[in-house]
Amino acid sequence: MAKYTNGSRVLITGGAGFIGSHLVDEFLQRGCHVTAVDNFATGNTANLPDHPELTVVEADVSAELPVGDQPFDLVLHFACPASPLDFATMPIGILQVDSLGTFRALDRALADNARFIIASTSEVYGDPLVHPQTEDYWGNVNPIGVRSCYDEAKRFSEAATVAYQRHRSLDAGIVRIFNTYGPRNRPDDGRVIPHFINRALTGQPLPIFGTGQQTRSICYIDDLVSGVIAMAESEEAGPVNLGSPYELSITEIAETIIRLTGSESVIEYHDARSDDPERRRPDLTKARELLGYEPQVSYENGLKATIDYYRQLNQTTGYDPAAEIS
Ligand code: NAD
Repeated sequence: MAKYTNGSRVLITGGAGFIGSHLVDEFLQRGCHVTAVDNFATGNTANLPDHPELTVVEADVSAELPVGDQPFDLVLHFACPASPLDFATMPIGILQVDSLGTFRALDRALADNARFIIASTSEVYGDPLVHPQTEDYWGNVNPIGVRSCYDEAKRFSEAATVAYQRHRSLDAGIVRIFNTYGPRNRPDDGRVIPHFINRALTGQPLPIFGTGQQTRSICYIDDLVSGVIAMAESEEAGPVNLGSPYELSITEIAETIIRLTGSESVIEYHDARSDDPERRRPDLTKARELLGYEPQVSYENGLKATIDYYRQLNQTTGYDPAAEIS
């Protein structure tokens, strides 16, 4: 039986972002009252519904968490810019939201006796030497590389969460999220799937850095949300990997997107980028055994739904991906 349902109070930091807004929808649908806190650094009010049970608070959670006195049953800390372009443009904000912001969210959960879930990432494994990645693998991270603001910030967030579990008896869970895609992923944030789709839709070349043989496992947003909900409703501490078993090379992703969009775009190869991981695929054994998690959406169906979303977005908003990424 669902644990968070009619009348439950759920706090979601980063609620106006890609993943956060889908969680907002899911908890509203379950009859919860949801408070979404966001500074709109990378989020968008257009991602949020006009709903009587939704409270939207504009705030930087690294500085404050002004969400009133009523206790929450569940706190989900999902605020954090998460794309490679964000790593280049807002590294300090990322480090702050995963340190200062994490403490604020942890303290709020502790004060309210709420369950706490932190959005960690496959990036904690860095450029992994173990494949597929199991949760007991410690990772291979460059602490001063171009991705370090994100990788190390998330590792710190995990350490802070574990300290609150061990020393403050907080009911907390860590999910390590692998590449997730789908509607509401910002079209211009530099992540591979929105970038390739929007290039393909405008007939521009799809740039690949390196050989294209580097892999990612790509997870459709609906599957990821079901995993986060299952983790929230469990009593598991984690960390638990969440993602999909589909491991595709970047070239395969590009070719599939060109085929599904019916585009004339070609693939262009460029020099490899520093610290770009070679292989990524979650070992999902823990998620399956502990949470009953099983991704349902094939990558072709997920990509088709995402392509439809960007087509519609570009028509309804007049957004011109060619102008953004040329
Ligand atoms: P996103 O950029 O769409 O969402 C992040 C949200 O957090 C945005 O709405 C942004 O405005 C908000 N935010 C950022 N800094 C903030 C601050 N200081 N105060 C308040 N709000 C702030 O990214 P996303 O893909 O939805 O990622 C959500 C979470 O999931 C992040 O913690 C990210 O690290 C994690 N994650 C995502 C992926 C993925 O593939 N999308 C993979 C691994 C982990």
